[in-house]
Amino acid sequence: MSTHGVVPLIERKKNGGELTADEIAWLLRGYVAGEVPDYQLSAWLMAVRWRGMTQGETLAMTRAMVASGRELEWSGIGRPTVDKHSTGGVGDKTSIVLVPLMAAAGAAFVKMSGRGLGHTGGTLDKLESIAGFRVDVPLDEMRGQVERVGAALVGQSPELVPADGKLYALRDVTATVDSVPLIASSIMSKKLAGGANSVVLDVKWGSGAFMTSVEDARILAAELVRIGEGAGRATRAVLSSMREPLGRAVGNALEVREAIETLHGRGPADLWALTLELGSHLLQMSGIEPHRDAAHARLAELRDSGAGARKLAELVTAQHGDARVVDDPSLLPAAPVMVTVEAEDAEPRWVAEADARSIGDAALLLGAGRRKKGDPVDPAVGIVMRARIGDRVERGHPLAEVHARTQADAEGAVRALRAAIALSPDPVRAAADAYEVIGKEQLGGAS
Ligand code: URA
Repeated sequence: MSTHGVVPLIERKKNGGELTADEIAWLLRGYVAGEVPDYQLSAWLMAVRWRGMTQGETLAMTRAMVASGRELEWSGIGRPTVDKHSTGGVGDKTSIVLVPLMAAAGAAFVKMSGRGLGHTGGTLDKLESIAGFRVDVPLDEMRGQVERVGAALVGQSPELVPADGKLYALRDVTATVDSVPLIASSIMSKKLAGGANSVVLDVKWGSGAFMTSVEDARILAAELVRIGEGAGRATRAVLSSMREPLGRAVGNALEVREAIETLHGRGPADLWALTLELGSHLLQMSGIEPHRDAAHARLAELRDSGAGARKLAELVTAQHGDARVVDDPSLLPAAPVMVTVEAEDAEPRWVAEADARSIGDAALLLGAGRRKKGDPVDPAVGIVMRARIGDRVERGHPLAEVHARTQADAEGAVRALRAAIALSPDPVRAAADAYEVIGKEQLGGAS
């Protein structure tokens, strides 16, 4: 490959032109092979950032990314294959509730997750707060686990879409992360390589999310669905709010405990509502329960009968973790210091804001997250929100609990939480759990 051949492709994108699928595949292959240098790909990425990509180019880019590595193949598994992706947020432990419920419903669910970075948490860090839990199940052992248990909760395999890691590192240092076709192809390449036939995407918006405005989240959601459907996978996106944290707990072991409580029917309403919404789309798309009401009823029945909790225990055992936590979450690590933040105003107040981003940052300060890749996390520390937007609070009413390593850490988090939680003298409406759904029907026209 000659680097001269790359120049006309950069030039064409710079001028707003379109590349063919073969040209995109050639460029990406060359980059992964080390034949196209970083500086040329950087120039092309910046041209993409400004000029965008057509739908055809975005799908071609996604396919080229998939072709850089292995693809999982589930034929003969005897269960409908499903997958989920969340664009990430604060307190998002939905996968730990949803995956066992879907496996108990008869689906095969291999959920490849990431680690937390900055104010957002990562499912792998949460799961590792369970003693012994291993997130690095080799691909070759995964099939056996999925045949036996119906699910796996594991790290993103480096054998799948190796181009993504290399490309993301380059985007990170060239200010080209915030490009919808590049984000969408990055996310969907991993879903396509995972091999599931039905995919639900939880696209979050709000201060704690990757996309802060609902309009931007909607544009990304449509792009993700277009790629999934274009590649022959049933795909729907659910827009959900990350204005305040999801559920009450923010922090690794605290979130696992909340996910377990939710499987026992004692979890926060918003977490259960989102689990029902995402799960019902997967049940419908995979044909396990084609009707929405029946899908909701099935998930509730799997929770109420204890089948979901038993499935989580099976999954934890399969991945070498201590499954006793499912019946006794007090076995999870606990922080030595606990401080409650209380409302102090003499008059009644209403919670007007519980800013997800600032609360995520406060948990990060406590040691629940990492500032940069590779930093250690403390599984025990974090925050439990005791009030939500719209709640009426009087003096002494708990607003949040801080779980910390030291009194000094706790005091810092208390100050951060007081700044993150805004109280109003007037009633405030609770944020409604109404989800906007984008499926192929909503895309309209060409996909
Ligand atoms: N998440 C991804 O997987 N890729 C991106 O580019 C952005 C968010």
